[in-house]
Formats: sequence, C-alpha cells, structure tokens
Amino acid sequence: MLLRHTPKEVKEREALTINPAKTCQPIGAMYAALGIHNCLPHSHGSQGCCSYHRSMLTRHYKEPVMATTSSFTEGSAVFGGQANLLAAVENIFALYKPDVIAVHTTCLSETIGDDIPQIVSKAVEEGKVPPGKFVIHANTPSYIGSHVTGFANMVKGMVKYFSVRTGVKDNQVNIIPGWVEPSDMREIKRLTAEMGVKSIMFPDTSEIMDSPQTGKFEMYGKGGVTIDELRASGDSIATLAMGHEASVPAGELLDSKCKVKLYELDVPIGLKATDRFIKTLSDVMNVPVPESIERERGRLVDILTDNEQYFYNKRVALYGDPDQLIPMCEFLVDIGMRPVYVVTGTPGKYFAARMPEVLKDIPEAKFRQGPQADMFLVHQWIKNEPVDLLIGNTWGKYIARDENVPLIRFGFPIMDRVGHSYFPNVGYTGAIRLIEKLLNAILDKRDREAPEEKFELMF
Ligand code: SF4
Repeated sequence: MLLRHTPKEVKEREALTINPAKTCQPIGAMYAALGIHNCLPHSHGSQGCCSYHRSMLTRHYKEPVMATTSSFTEGSAVFGGQANLLAAVENIFALYKPDVIAVHTTCLSETIGDDIPQIVSKAVEEGKVPPGKFVIHANTPSYIGSHVTGFANMVKGMVKYFSVRTGVKDNQVNIIPGWVEPSDMREIKRLTAEMGVKSIMFPDTSEIMDSPQTGKFEMYGKGGVTIDELRASGDSIATLAMGHEASVPAGELLDSKCKVKLYELDVPIGLKATDRFIKTLSDVMNVPVPESIERERGRLVDILTDNEQYFYNKRVALYGDPDQLIPMCEFLVDIGMRPVYVVTGTPGKYFAARMPEVLKDIPEAKFRQGPQADMFLVHQWIKNEPVDLLIGNTWGKYIARDENVPLIRFGFPIMDRVGHSYFPNVGYTGAIRLIEKLLNAILDKRDREAPEEKFELMF
C-alpha cells in the first residue's frame, strides 16, 4: 500500500505533476549517442545530471554506461561552461580516444545560454580535436520535452553533422528505429536482411548495450553506426523513420538536406505495424516478401487465434512514450483487449491526432498527454474503475501492488527485471513474445486467485 494516499477523486491540476510519465531529455540524447560506433556521450552540465542519466541507463540495460561531464561548479554557473568544455574535449580525446564526442546540454548550461557550436569551433581552432575525430552536439534542455525529445535531437544532430549527398544513389535504405531496445534494433536489421535489403541503421545500440562477456574490457563495444555509414545515409534511396517523436525529425532533416525520401512508420510493435513496415520495405526497395517472413507472420496469427478468448474485453491501462503506446494500443485492440487509460508525459501533436483513430472502437477510453498526464492520474482512474492489466515501466509496480493488477513491464526504464534488452518486442517474433507475456500475466493471476474447486491443471 505504498501509494495508499492517492485519492479516488480526480481534480483538475494545472501546475502540479505527480510521478511523471517521462524523464529528462539528456537521458535520451545519451542513449542515442551510445548508438554511434566509438562514441563517448558528454554531458555539458553538472556532475549530478550526468551521474543520474548514466545510472538510469545502467539500471535499465544492465551494462556500464560510459559518459563524461563538464563538471560545472558555481563558477561555471556564473561565467559559463566554455572553459570546462574546452578542457573536457582535449582530455577526452587524449585519455579515452573516441572517434566522436557527442555533447548534450542540461538545464543549467541551457539556462546560462552556452553556445555549443561556438565552443566546438574554438576547440577545433585551438587544435583540441585531432584530425579524423569529431564533436557533435544536441541541445537538450530538460524543462521542455522529455527523454524522447532528447533522443530525437541527438539523432537529428547525427544527420546535421554527418549525412552528405554525393548525387549518386546507393541501393540501400536508412532505418531510424526510434527509442527501442538493442534487441529490437537487431530484430529490425534481421528482418531487413531477410528481405534482401541493405540498410543503415542509426542509432544502433545492439552490440553496445547488450554486449557479450568476453573477459576483456572494451571501452566502446563492437556495435554502433559508423561515421562512414552516417555519411552514406545521404545517398540512400529512402529513410524509414519509426516513431513520430523519436525518429521523424531526423528523417525530415535528411529529406531536406540530402533529398532522401522519408517514410513515416510506427515502431513495428504488433501485427499491423509490422505488416506496414514489411510492406513499405517491399514497395520502396522493390523486393518480394520471402516465404520465411510470411511463415513468421503465420505463427503469430496462429497463436493469436488460439488464445483470443483470454484477451477478449480485458481492460488495460498504459503509460509511457507515444511512439510505443500508439502501436501497442493498436495491437491490444486487434487481439480483443480494451486499452481504456493511456497517458504520456512526452509532448508532440501526433499522439493526440492518432489516438482517436486507434481507440475508435473503445468508446470508454481516455487518453491524456502533457505534464498532468502522470501516473498519479492513471492510479486515480484505476481506483474509480479498475483494469485487468497495467502496461508500462518499473515505476508502475507501486500501482500494480496497491490495486492487485498484473504489471507487464514495457518501455523505459525497466529496473527490476531482465530480458528486455535481449528479446525483441518488435516484428512478428516480438509480437509472439508480447502475447506470451500478456497471457501469462492474465493466467497467473487467475491461478493465484481461483477457488480450489475452480483451480484447473489445464487452461
Ligand atoms: S532535469 Fe535538468 S537538472 Fe535535473 S537531471 Fe535532468 S538535466 Fe539535470
């Protein structure tokens, strides 16, 4: 009963957020930067911000997250952080030898108004950036946007700094996967390769945030998009941007800067969103869908039809990021469930525009977005009309315990379970895994609570 003081009565709030359904921008920028090969994320702000962002990523991915900081003190807060960043750039290249330093700002450096491109130019002029090495940046003030905005800003920075158009097209596609797990990135690449399509994925955190234990220390891991690949992204035939908030801004910039046609897609979670991904890839690259992928799809349809009765009419509450919530809700509706409460703290017009269509068959559904669309509100709604399942990150475990509702861990951060970075949620295989998790949660609760005379060996 950790949240027993949450009142049932819902009152309109204007200036108060309680347990937000989002976190701060630099975490997203740091995660995106880790998806560049040999890149060291750098937090231009105080040590506390950097420690917090690193620890959140480490807790979720269960991997040590390397990042450096400008280590602001009171002096930097008054006079600006230029001297700190110049010293940092010189030291980082000398000590840690990355190919790229990806600088993101924090609330403090944004409030001071530090001009990062000017400081980086000064670092280049003063010879602090060795030949063949790069410093890129993204502005990530945390008092606007969310971790998703920060991710989007850093991915946009990759295009801004590196993508070039030579005028000769390469028969390849760019894939911007959005904020998904390393396992999801690996699965999207596998499906793309299975279609016989050459791709450049950025960012790509597979083999970095899920790197194997080899017995040898590796500062950067083997994975990540390379600088050469980022440059070549300007010559691709098309960009598939998955997720409107995390990926489309970079896709739009690539379109305007290098004339690479943009296709906006949902993150391929569930049957329909994966179908749209496969169809778009097939149409854009003019390749047939192989039988192996059709059979994967068939396995998903089979498990869906076998178990639909257990999902039918189950009420679900969800919280998290819009790019994940949209296809997840679509999938839940497809399998007969009722996503009745959906909240996100991440801003952006697309969520409000898309959710009415996704939830058109669930008239009682409520969805909210913004600072007051928090987990406190979800809890209040549940207290008024209960749900059968809760879907979201680890923070929801308090609500789940208080209300005796099973929690399916989904999104960021997941700090109290493992597996999310190793097993995908995307594609047909990922959808089968989601079905397994949903079904197990429902049946485990039924077994736990069934009276003895109704406790069945078979289901
Ligand atoms: S909200 Fe701002 S000050 Fe707080 S950790 Fe995030 S970047 Fe740092």
